[in-house]
Amino acid sequence: MNRARVLLLNPALGPLDYRVDREHVVVPGSIVLAPLGPRQLAGVVWEPDQMPSDAEVGDNRLRPLLGVYDIPPLGAPLRRLIEWTANYYLAPPAAVLRMALASASALEPKRSVIEYRATGQVPGRMTPQRSQALERIGERQGLVRELAMIADVSDAVIRGLVKSGAIEAVEVTIDDPFPVPDPDHAPPELSAEQQAATDALVEAVQAQASQTFLLDGVTGSGKTEVYLEAVAAALRQGQQALILLPEIALTEPFLRRFEARFGHLPIAWHSDLRQSQRRRAWRAVATGEAHVVIGARSALFLPYRDLGLIIVDEAHEPSFKQEDGVMYHARDVAVMRGHFEQCPVVLASATPAIESQQQVALGRYRELKLPKRFGAAEMPEIKAIDMLADPPPRGRWLAPTLVAAIAETLERKEQVLLFLNRRGYAPLTLCRTCGHRFQCPNCTAWMVEHRLMHRLQCHHCGHVMPPPRACPECKEEDSLVACGPGVERIADEVAALFPEARRAIITSDTIFSPARAADFVARMEANEIDIVIGTQLVTKGYHFPNLTLVGVVDADLGLQGGDLRAAERSFQQIAQVAGRAGRDVKKGHVLIQTHEPKAPVIRALVSGDAASFYAAETASRRSANAPPFGRYAAIIVSSEKLDEAVEIARMIGRTAPEAEGMRVYGPAPAPLSMLRGRYRQRLLIHAKRSLDVQDVIRGWLGALKWPNGVRVAVDVDPYSFL
Ligand code: ADP
Ligand code: ZN
Repeated sequence: MNRARVLLLNPALGPLDYRVDREHVVVPGSIVLAPLGPRQLAGVVWEPDQMPSDAEVGDNRLRPLLGVYDIPPLGAPLRRLIEWTANYYLAPPAAVLRMALASASALEPKRSVIEYRATGQVPGRMTPQRSQALERIGERQGLVRELAMIADVSDAVIRGLVKSGAIEAVEVTIDDPFPVPDPDHAPPELSAEQQAATDALVEAVQAQASQTFLLDGVTGSGKTEVYLEAVAAALRQGQQALILLPEIALTEPFLRRFEARFGHLPIAWHSDLRQSQRRRAWRAVATGEAHVVIGARSALFLPYRDLGLIIVDEAHEPSFKQEDGVMYHARDVAVMRGHFEQCPVVLASATPAIESQQQVALGRYRELKLPKRFGAAEMPEIKAIDMLADPPPRGRWLAPTLVAAIAETLERKEQVLLFLNRRGYAPLTLCRTCGHRFQCPNCTAWMVEHRLMHRLQCHHCGHVMPPPRACPECKEEDSLVACGPGVERIADEVAALFPEARRAIITSDTIFSPARAADFVARMEANEIDIVIGTQLVTKGYHFPNLTLVGVVDADLGLQGGDLRAAERSFQQIAQVAGRAGRDVKKGHVLIQTHEPKAPVIRALVSGDAASFYAAETASRRSANAPPFGRYAAIIVSSEKLDEAVEIARMIGRTAPEAEGMRVYGPAPAPLSMLRGRYRQRLLIHAKRSLDVQDVIRGWLGALKWPNGVRVAVDVDPYSFL
């Protein structure tokens, strides 16, 4: 009798046992199709001792597996990673497995699909919906459903356009092989520092041993060139390499750079892929035909056949932390994957996280330093503008010193970047007459005015409303005023000051796809843009030789709020955006607007003395026993009913176990006490590093019950305290 334990792709279920009939051959990792009630579900065969089941069923009652997919089994390193992730982040193993089997269609042995694209023909009858669809779809191609999503119209509108001839069907073969990047295509000539760092990485790749490196090099020092040589080494020995980027907007420029080095594109994995692209990429990863994958954090769980190297670029970025579903930190999971795969992991950053530096101090990570910019480029000159001594005129946000510097830069035909980490026109709208403020009905958040799109929007749940003419409270007309600046408002100010200058606003509203990002890069490089006004989206990765002035509109913004990483985060963000200035032969200048020029963060940026800033931050974390010296975990209880959320959170608080070196705070309203229509209460656990908090929480919550409408989520090593 042959039985198999199967982890099904349903997070609500534990592992189940099935009978394996003679026509099927399975090993641990085999991807199978199993019956579940009247349905059929995909799953993966697991070693029973790694995946205990509490529903042991006798041999005679087992149902048979329906089939085994013709795909290489998930390797043992990935299975160990899935177990580790589920265990560490207190998530159902099946929820983690879902990230590995991230393309349902990849399992099917289909060879071609029908996709749709615009023909350029104008439909006989044009409606507002049809024109919106055609405009948004542009050159893109996809299934009817995918195009409808892109265009924000119903499937019927797309089908109507197909009938009218404005959109046509195309057959796409989806399993075409990918070209193989050539490690010898165009290797760079490295500087001596780059060569030393490269040698260390190449040696580790060749040794196929698990080791984590912190590649700490100033912005523009050529970290990318260095780790691409490590990628070349992995390619030469026939292994796969994974490069994680913090933002899909960075994908396009990176692809081009990769192509210049290796002669062919790598495989991109991100949320903007069409279903057919997803399938093709997933299969190529699983078969080993994909040699280099670049992607957002989700690329980390793909079933690589033989992984030889993992790079985490801009490893300090908080976007590597996933905030819903399985709340994992891709940087930390990458290190674990390297451990299981027996391959090196490279964390590259100009402003490494204190957590990563601490690992270096403990001797667990090896540090490689690139202290200078590559070639003739120098670090930019950074100055603070004291907004009290040098204030902008009333109703404006740019100080005279910054405005003068912009004028000079434009005069020299060079480019300017103004950074403000706030989308929209104004962060808050209120009524001048009665003081009414526009709040999101679903969240504890103000509605943000987006003038370009003519609406108010909640940045947490996406709720939108048109800006009303009259105040809903006092009914006074035309009495609404915008408070504070967002990027759109700064763009208006720039337009008034420099009407001739060509502007671009770069935020997630305008750069929502890799194609849009590529378009932005092309326009910058062709000098078709004079002034960029952008959010954190423009702070990293980009290399524009003619960009010589960076203005930080409000350096104090990131320091507000009680986040334990606020100062570190501010430092990183401003150092990164400053790093966009003067990356080539032209000298860069950075002006930082602040009300607190004496704050340690600002002083460190101006003096360039990052080391003493980090040392002070690290010391204060140590004395507060905050990460990386102690640890936090949050338990978030949410419900559509306030009293229910409070009651269950209190019940959880009351039943908190005693553990040495652990304290439980709360419950208190979570900092966003209402989110997407759900009331949220939070308990915060602060524990010493050596305590197995996960184990404590598992035992604690495992013994409790709560009503169906209540959700209890655990965030281990939380990043968001807001
Ligand atoms: P970082 O990733 O550290 O910010 P980059 O890798 O983007 O730095 O390098 C900055 C610039 O210097 C890029 O334009 C890059 O092409 C160039 N560069 C770096 N190293 C070399 C090299 N060895 N040969 C030629 N150009 C290089
Ligand atoms: Zn909202």
